[in-house]
Amino acid sequence: LDIALAIDVGGTKLAAATVDADGRIRGRSRVPVPRTEDPDELFESLVVCAFAALRGADVTPGELAAVGCGCGGPMRWPSGRVSPLNIPAWRDFPLRDRLVEEFATERVLVHNDAVALAAGEHWKGAGSASAHMLAVTVSTGVGGGLVLGGALYHGASGNAGHVGHIVVEPDGPACSCGGRGCLEAIASGPNTVRRALAEGWRPGPGAEPDGRAVAAAAAAGDEVAARNLTRSGAAVGVALASCVHALDLEVAVVAGGFSQSGPIFWEALRASYGAHARLAFAAGARVVPSERPADAGLLGAAAFVLLPDRYGWAVDA
Ligand SMILES: [Zn+2]
Repeated sequence: LDIALAIDVGGTKLAAATVDADGRIRGRSRVPVPRTEDPDELFESLVVCAFAALRGADVTPGELAAVGCGCGGPMRWPSGRVSPLNIPAWRDFPLRDRLVEEFATERVLVHNDAVALAAGEHWKGAGSASAHMLAVTVSTGVGGGLVLGGALYHGASGNAGHVGHIVVEPDGPACSCGGRGCLEAIASGPNTVRRALAEGWRPGPGAEPDGRAVAAAAAAGDEVAARNLTRSGAAVGVALASCVHALDLEVAVVAGGFSQSGPIFWEALRASYGAHARLAFAAGARVVPSERPADAGLLGAAAFVLLPDRYGWAVDA
């Protein structure tokens, strides 16, 4: 029986799961990213989280077939040296090497967390019936991953699927990448909130000004919140139409916390997708929410190592 340890290093939480070859999660663990500037202390927290997931499944490290990991970017691929934007303690941190050492196996693969999400949605989620799909995560940032011809597609440097930096408004707001009008600069949760605040929206008393508050206000009829949520959803639709045309995709899966902002976001997304995806093949593509919002990243990380022909890659020593 092949059992993989799956690891998901997000901006705010560390998660681990023990996953079998059928995609069943047998043990799991999750902790907040500790506030530390010590790279080793952070790695130690990740190891503790991983061992809890193994114990939950009654699996010893010696019984593990392999370790797959999704981590926030940027990173060097396939060497797995990571510098997650939201985790300043790790800059060019040799995450793959450290996992190889810790679990005493060379069968360790580390990739972008949005790529892991794409693998998970393709293996066991909303893209499972397709051979050509894009998964996009709309959250604190906007990222994505691609499955083309039935296999995970990496691009020249492992950066394929960076849909957050597709330009959707050439004269739009400045982006963290140095460009302007990127999808992420418009549609991420924090950028939507910033825009709404600038236009005078305020969260209710005692509430944090976050994406959830904007979505709630929009649903309750706040015009500024609704207008900004609409602009974000529409931007995602424009970007997806471009991607589907370029790559002849069957499915685009939209995941991430901010994508769960409700009907106003989704109606804007679908309307703008429909307005821009006019050729029959593109108009016929499915644009759908994630089927496994909580687990797709972990399942995909496991898929890297459990199904290497479809989702894996070679790491040159
Ligand atoms: Zn950008």
